[in-house]
Amino acid sequence: MSNFQNFIDGAFVAGRGDAFGNHFPTTGEVIGEVRAADREQVDAAVGAARQALRGPWGRMSVPERIALLRKLSQGINARFDEFLEAEIHDTGKPRSLASHIDIPRGAANFDVFADQVATLGTESFAQPTPDGAGALNYAVRGPRGVIAVVCPWNLPLLLMTWKVAPALACGNTVVVKPSEETPATATLLGEVMNEVGIPAGVYNVVHGRGPGCAGEFLTSHPDVDGITFTGETRTGEAIMKAAANGVRPVSLELGGKNPGIIFDDADFDKTMEGIGRACFANTGQVCLGTERIYVQRGIFDRVAEGLAAKARSYRFGDPFEDSTTMGPVISAEHREKVLSYYDKARTEGAQVLAGGGAPQMQGYDGGYWVEPTVWTGLPETSPVVTDEIFGPCTHLQPFDTEEEAVALANNSPYGLATSIWTTDLARAHRVAGEVEVGITWVNCWFLRDLRTPFGGSKSSGIGREGGVHSMEFYSELRNVCIKL
Ligand code: NAD
Repeated sequence: MSNFQNFIDGAFVAGRGDAFGNHFPTTGEVIGEVRAADREQVDAAVGAARQALRGPWGRMSVPERIALLRKLSQGINARFDEFLEAEIHDTGKPRSLASHIDIPRGAANFDVFADQVATLGTESFAQPTPDGAGALNYAVRGPRGVIAVVCPWNLPLLLMTWKVAPALACGNTVVVKPSEETPATATLLGEVMNEVGIPAGVYNVVHGRGPGCAGEFLTSHPDVDGITFTGETRTGEAIMKAAANGVRPVSLELGGKNPGIIFDDADFDKTMEGIGRACFANTGQVCLGTERIYVQRGIFDRVAEGLAAKARSYRFGDPFEDSTTMGPVISAEHREKVLSYYDKARTEGAQVLAGGGAPQMQGYDGGYWVEPTVWTGLPETSPVVTDEIFGPCTHLQPFDTEEEAVALANNSPYGLATSIWTTDLARAHRVAGEVEVGITWVNCWFLRDLRTPFGGSKSSGIGREGGVHSMEFYSELRNVCIKL
């Protein structure tokens, strides 16, 4: 049994808030206990972060910070297997996935933002005039201060370091509130912080739930200078309200109901491979995942068959076995939610092309398993087609014209991501310019260059992170004007 402690001012401390079990989603077994931070402990974490800004961290040169960021990446890689095991125990995701995505990207984020800050400049405007009436303006970049980092459970280490790395690169200090479902890797990172010599108070972790608990204590804390959040849109709204007190900046990476658009000239095999991943990777628990697919009528039946076959090809089981290609969902509660949509689809008359229920899992009876599922035949107004389910499921709808496909794709309050599948380049450009999302992939999905702007439009978020966009959020510009 692991006991997950808070990490405050460089030391591990037992939480004084409520205690709850940490479950292994594969079996449902309780494998650890989380003792949440109470309000005073969240205060202490924010206080330590403030103090660290005034200490050696605040006076450190950029090259020294860069060196420490690189050591953090190396430190995670040096304990790769421990991080991998911790992530698998928290999420039940297959080793094949976590070892290729979660942990390597979790480490790489520190390198990426070390590179970014190394070449980061600011603007200057020189207007000298012969009579000396001109001016030189230049901007100085400094940290924002204490950043609250509130994270979800689907890609715990990866999404947390996606925020912590640029925040530290810009010289901020952070208080992280990991998801209550996945406390392990954020805690382990505290050990690495100490090992590589990050000063105490720069990185703090407070555990607990959101409303009325550590999450809310942190985001409503008056001494927090900025909040970065990834999670559900509804939670984003609550956090934005909390941030309004004191007019603190927020970066919100929220939910989606992402459309895929498949034209009849698409390369069929490559499309099935890509869109299959977009629907089912990480058991569908990816914000960028595709839960509604619009298929040009001429190839609809073929795509439907292909995707159903793909859904049936996944193998459930022990996440530590290489043969396992799909894990459970994160929790009993989330399984209930996903299965409630499976029921709704059936009662609303969907044609179930694959899956549609929970698999029989001998030896893993208590686990949070759901089948990868493909439907068609529902109206666009069905909650199955409009709500983010966040499970391994997708709904297929035929279309005839490009205009119709764009209109269907845009008919959503969300605007996170889309993927367009076509061999007609002109059409790809046209449609990419029309779909109202933050991220468009053409003939691929989740192909990431970490320097690019990442974020959603409409209810899928505010702001962009990635590359220089992260630097903009995690730093404050001050302009200096000198009369010449
Ligand atoms: P969630 O919103 O339920 O929880 C996220 C975090 O917020 C958790 O740490 C939680 O404890 C905390 N929280 C909850 N209520 C809070 C409150 N009132 N105040 C402060 N903190 C609070 O999200 P989740 O279920 O953990 O994650 C799944 C969601 O995340 C999905 O909607 C998914 O689309 C979204 N997501 C978005 C992105 C993106 O980049 N846009 C990436 C991954 C996940």
